[in-house]
Amino acid sequence: MDMGSMNAEPMNAGSMNAVTVKCPFPRCGAENGYDAAECGRCGAPIGSYALLSVYSAHLFNRGLAAAREDRLAEAHGYFAAVVHWCPSDIEARNALALACQALGHSAEARDAWEEVLRRRPGDRLADLGLNPPKAASDPPPDPVPVPADPPLDEGREPAAAPAAPGRPTGGP
Ligand SMILES: [Zn+2]
Repeated sequence: MDMGSMNAEPMNAGSMNAVTVKCPFPRCGAENGYDAAECGRCGAPIGSYALLSVYSAHLFNRGLAAAREDRLAEAHGYFAAVVHWCPSDIEARNALALACQALGHSAEARDAWEEVLRRRPGDRLADLGLNPPKAASDPPPDPVPVPADPPLDEGREPAAAPAAPGRPTGGP
């Protein structure tokens, strides 16, 4: 993947600028601007950490956008990059597996889902990916036989004969 071309597109101003990065040190946890080189509170060097976490989210979003537009090979590349950089990112791994599946790389999809389950046992999406519901893979059932012509409607009586004209009432 050409990393240079990714920067060519304008970033979503607003959202990128608003991103803050939490200091990864549990006893600090201060919020810092995504471009801060050091944590404002404890001075930890968080520059590359911030860059990584923001950039991986950015790549993940690019992958989702590509998948939505049916550019599956491209989506696969983005998700694979996120997984490579952030191996604990379960969502990216699930997304990668789905992209693999859609591309017909079922062995790779299976590997990704198995890794998801190793990291997060019982993950519903991975479980579903590895054990798709029966209906999805089975051939369609035999067509339902079409009933023959509907039986004649036997319940209805033939049209009643016209009523006999009323006998004139009143005798002579
Ligand atoms: Zn800190």
